[in-house]
Amino acid sequence: MSSAAAASRRGRPLAAALAADLRRIVGHRRVLDDPASLAAYESDALTLYRCRPGAVVLPGDRDELVACVRLLHRAGIPFAARGAGTGLSGGALVPPGGVILGLARMDRILELNPAERWARVEPGVVNAELSRAAAPHGLRYAPDPASQAVCTLGGNLAENSGGPQCFLHGMTAQHVLEAEVVLADGRCERWGGPTLESDDLDLRGFLVGSEGSVAIASEIRLRLVPLPEAVATLLGAFADLHAACEAVAEVVAAGLRPVAMEVMDRRAIRAVEASVYRAGLPTDAGAVLIVEVEGPAARIPEEAAEVEEILERHRPLRLERAANPAERAAIWKGRKGAGGAMGQLAPDSLVMDGVVPRSRLAEIMDFVLRVEEESGLPIANLFHAGDGNIHPHFAYDARDREQARRVEEAATRILRRCLDLGGSLSGEHGIGLEKEELLAEQFDPPTLELMRRVRRAFDPAGLLNPDKGLPLPRGCAEAFHRHRRYRDGRA
Ligand SMILES: Cc1cc2nc3c(=O)[nH]c(=O)nc-3n(C[C@H](O)[C@H](O)[C@H](O)COP(=O)(O)OP(=O)(O)OC[C@H]3O[C@@H](n4cnc5c(N)ncnc54)[C@H](O)[C@@H]3O)c2cc1C
Repeated sequence: MSSAAAASRRGRPLAAALAADLRRIVGHRRVLDDPASLAAYESDALTLYRCRPGAVVLPGDRDELVACVRLLHRAGIPFAARGAGTGLSGGALVPPGGVILGLARMDRILELNPAERWARVEPGVVNAELSRAAAPHGLRYAPDPASQAVCTLGGNLAENSGGPQCFLHGMTAQHVLEAEVVLADGRCERWGGPTLESDDLDLRGFLVGSEGSVAIASEIRLRLVPLPEAVATLLGAFADLHAACEAVAEVVAAGLRPVAMEVMDRRAIRAVEASVYRAGLPTDAGAVLIVEVEGPAARIPEEAAEVEEILERHRPLRLERAANPAERAAIWKGRKGAGGAMGQLAPDSLVMDGVVPRSRLAEIMDFVLRVEEESGLPIANLFHAGDGNIHPHFAYDARDREQARRVEEAATRILRRCLDLGGSLSGEHGIGLEKEELLAEQFDPPTLELMRRVRRAFDPAGLLNPDKGLPLPRGCAEAFHRHRRYRDGRA
């Protein structure tokens, strides 16, 4: 094992004087530096990458956050924000000796303005909490990642998260109006404004999806959308994934605009039905397609019928409409619980995230099945089909190095095929550490250099969530314990 890898496994403690200064800012118990606490922060939900931080600091408000950032910047210590740690690309990790700023305590909804349909929140507010708070006003927050019961709005902003409803309502970028940000040196600024139309340089645009590397959002103003007057939820069961994907492509080509189109394959269905998220999904089907339409009550029956007509052409084994809110809730509980259900299949999982044009969806899923056959690795699929955003899911044991190597190799083949089909490396989980090596296959060197220069303009010292979302310098990959060494022959 190299010295960098050994250091990241053991962790590199923070200097005692710096830890004491941080404690003076946030309080003694809000700085975690004992091995047991730090172990919980050495990875996010992508367990392939691990690196024990020097300390975890838990500021309770903006002023504490700013004071911590200033101190770390002066000391030249790398740091990164963390919300709930549900990220799936290794984004909320720091290099050995770095500090994680855990923002889960900053969880207040500061203002909810029903007349103007926005809310001002701290970054640690859990996604689903905002919709719960907005519901009495007839409003909701539209981006709904499957992890919405735990992930934070700060993490959503950083990853430009999506979710089933984003097919109609757009990703997080379409919902962030304004953010108060803390720059890498501790200066505070406000980017964006009360509406999405800005006549200035779009700094808000730099922030959303920047994977925590441009600035830390300390407050966010988010759009809210009205709750729909009526909803119809359809569940089609198909013999195989191919048929379900062809049906999705036809709905899109017909110009229909459902709010969501989600596909789950047999492995995902069976994992759900064997778990607490059981939803009565057909375990004999090769795939299910969930389509939801929403809008004025007068229009919905007709729209649902139009979708049904298209699905019928693809010979579903069964096609049903949720008869009441309880049936609808059960379907979504199954879909949103699927990730958790599959997490129980093995100690580790790799949930991939790639995008293809929707017309190529059936083709990429055929390729995923080929990779499954050739690699001998079971792959489950559940994905935002309406967006052409696939999520092949590998359940495996990272302690088995050979298995981990094969999983990464298979995942890389699938991502490369997404690029070949005119797609991209990430729909919503970000690049993080996971895909940095492949970036050079999507972007040419001048474009990557431009990205580096933009990053440096915001953070010249390179301390804020360094090494994420851009090709890693050699040696850093080691520090993050990357198992993926086969490509350059270090396996
Ligand atoms: C079961 C499961 C299902 C999922 N389903 C979806 C899905 O449907 N759609 C989807 O898009 N994602 C999904 N995800 C991925 C994940 O939930 C999202 O990426 C989410 O936005 C991460 O939020 P978090 O609070 O956990 O962020 P973390 O994992 O803690 O951090 C993610 C990144 O955000 C940065 N960050 C955190 N807070 C801030 C801040 N205040 N300012 C600046 N940067 C910050 C971190 O530095 C890091 O780079 C799923 C994950 C799981 C485990």
